[in-house]
Amino acid sequence: MTTARHRQAFFDALAEATAASERAGRSLALLLVDIRRFREINATYGYEVGDELLERFGERLRGVLREADQLTRIGGDQFAVTLPAIMNSGHAVLAATKLVECLEELFLIDGMHVKAQPTIGVALYPDHARTPTALLQRAEAALFHAKSGRTAYAIYDSGQGVSSVKIEHELHQAIENGDLTLYCQPQVDLRSGRVSGVESLVRWQHPADGLVLPDHFIPVAEDSGLIIPLTLWTLNAALRHCAEHKPAGGGWSMAVNFSARCLYYPGVAELVERAMKIWDTAPGTLTVEVTESAMMADPEQSLRTLEELDALGVAVAIDDFGTGYSSLACLKRLPVKELKIDKSFIMGMVHDADDATIARSTIDLAHNFGLVVTAEGVENRETLDALTAMGCDYAQGYYVSWPLPAADVPRWLRESPWGRFAQSAGSPDTTEAP
Ligand code: C2E
Ligand code: CA
Ligand code: CA
Repeated sequence: MTTARHRQAFFDALAEATAASERAGRSLALLLVDIRRFREINATYGYEVGDELLERFGERLRGVLREADQLTRIGGDQFAVTLPAIMNSGHAVLAATKLVECLEELFLIDGMHVKAQPTIGVALYPDHARTPTALLQRAEAALFHAKSGRTAYAIYDSGQGVSSVKIEHELHQAIENGDLTLYCQPQVDLRSGRVSGVESLVRWQHPADGLVLPDHFIPVAEDSGLIIPLTLWTLNAALRHCAEHKPAGGGWSMAVNFSARCLYYPGVAELVERAMKIWDTAPGTLTVEVTESAMMADPEQSLRTLEELDALGVAVAIDDFGTGYSSLACLKRLPVKELKIDKSFIMGMVHDADDATIARSTIDLAHNFGLVVTAEGVENRETLDALTAMGCDYAQGYYVSWPLPAADVPRWLRESPWGRFAQSAGSPDTTEAP
């Protein structure tokens, strides 16, 4: 399994476990377990010992967990433990203590005695977070707290570093004060080598922390409902940008990300229509990107909203395709035009035969369903060439351009070979590309 699939499988299991705990009226605990100074262990004893240690470390943890508890290795030296249906945080503390104790005994590997001490961050659902993504973030915050305090474990509390309540409050103000900034990432048509449009990506200009990336605040916005004003802000900023920089010849697309909550927000299509009227947006300009899991959460309501958007001349793209389990046959019943292959399959596809196969078969399948395909996460020329050979329609990624402040896009278009080669066929000689 690829790393992306591991992570997705873990997320899916976590979503199921939180739903089951919810039904049982209980809490669920997520424990993130890191091996302290694992790099040093690798450097001291060698990678083979390190690999063996990871195996044995996992086995030890498994040995003290209950059958219903889940153990997954989610990163290099990081494990996630989920304890379903617990009564209170006391149970999570007990489990964390047991895990620490079971690791006191040294590991004997290749005749060497190796000590592997854990650091554990604990967060509870629904006490600390109401979505799997937010829960993972809280557990990470707790883990960070434990590491910096050099304690064996820590339970999340809102005073640790960035509390979600604090983020929520500040984000609310940022939306009101206009402290959000629109970034745009160009997309290119692989047949013509010409820029075909941009995706809008929001950033937060924080007074103390500087430019904050969306992964740090979108989950909080989704949890708190702030995602609606935030998305309306992005939508307006994006359409305004189109109105002010209408490229000669037109035919450009501007994509905006919609969370599940936006898709199910009553009257969302009217809000989009109003924004399009204000900025005089031509039909066919705006694309809304929605993930497959958001669409499939309530297929009937999705169908209604997406049909309303379709009637406005708004195209719909399936974002992050490949990270969920929905079938394209199901998704195709919705009025979608485009599929975006998730970057986790694209970034390593020139070295990973499985990822390349996934990319190729997704492109073929999408074409059979009459969809156009964009690959995201294109980081080098080899990937771009491989995708072109596979018949992929559009590409987006650092190789073409990093996300740019929207105000810099016109200059980028004038200076970049992707912009300058707008009229000629074939991809530009990207020795010149950024
Ligand atoms: P996404 O929609 O999948 O956006 C693509 C993300 O991939 C962006 O991260 C972009 O910077 C990154 N990326 C682009 N090219 C490459 C590449 O070649 N390699 C790698 N490794 N990454 C690449 P960003 O801007 O941090 O956005 C993260 C996520 O935040 C987005 O993922 C999207 O889900 C969400 N997001 C961003 N802006 C908005 C918004 O206005 N509204 C909503 N609801 N979500 C947003
Ligand atoms: Ca997107
Ligand atoms: Ca995406």
